[in-house]
Amino acid sequence: MEIKLEDLKVLYSEEQLQTRIKELGQELNTFYKGEEVIAICVLKGAVVFAVDLVRHLDMPLKMEFIRLSSYGSSTTTSGKVNAVDIKLPDLNGKNVLIIEDIVDTGLTAKFLVDFINMNFHVKTLKFCSLLDKKITRKVDIEPDYYCFEVDDKFVVGYGLDYDGLYRNLPYIGYKE
Ligand code: 5GP
Repeated sequence: MEIKLEDLKVLYSEEQLQTRIKELGQELNTFYKGEEVIAICVLKGAVVFAVDLVRHLDMPLKMEFIRLSSYGSSTTTSGKVNAVDIKLPDLNGKNVLIIEDIVDTGLTAKFLVDFINMNFHVKTLKFCSLLDKKITRKVDIEPDYYCFEVDDKFVVGYGLDYDGLYRNLPYIGYKE
C-alpha cells in the first residue's frame, strides 16, 4: 500500500488532538499530585505527542527517550520488538510514565512494561498512549491512559509515519 498526502482523510483534527491532550494532562496532574515523574518517550512515533503532553504537566519531570522498532518500512508489524536504544537511568523508586504513539498488537507495550519491571522496582508505572487500536491486540495489555481509540486502519500524522513520512502533520489521517 502506498500512501500519498492527497489521499489522506482526517481522522482526528489538530483541534481534537490538542483539546484531548490538555484534558489528559489534567488527569495526569491529578494522579501524580505534584510528585516527580520520569517520562519515557518511545521514539520516533511518540515524540510529537510527548512534547505537547509534557507542556500540560505541572510536576517536576524528567524526560528520557528510547528507541524500539517492530514495523520497518511496512504497514504491518513484524511481530518482533527490537530494542534499538533502551539506555535508561536508575528508575528504582520513581514514578515512571511511558509515552507511546499507538498500542496495536500490544507487543511493544508489553515488551517495555516487562523490561522496566524486570530491571527496576519503580514506585508507579503508567502507560500512556495517544491512540489505542484495541481491535488488533494480540497480547493482554491495556494502556492506563489514552486519547482516542482507532479501529483497524493504518493511521499517520502527529508523529506516526508511513515509511518515515507524515510525522509532521498536525492531525491524524488515514487512507480510505
Ligand atoms: P505494537 O507493538 O503494539 O503492534 O505496535 C506498536 C508500534 O507499531 C507503534 O508504536 C507504531 O510505531 C506502530 N504502529 C502500529 N499501528 C500503526 C499505525 O496505524 N500507523 C503507524 N504509522 N504506525 C503504527
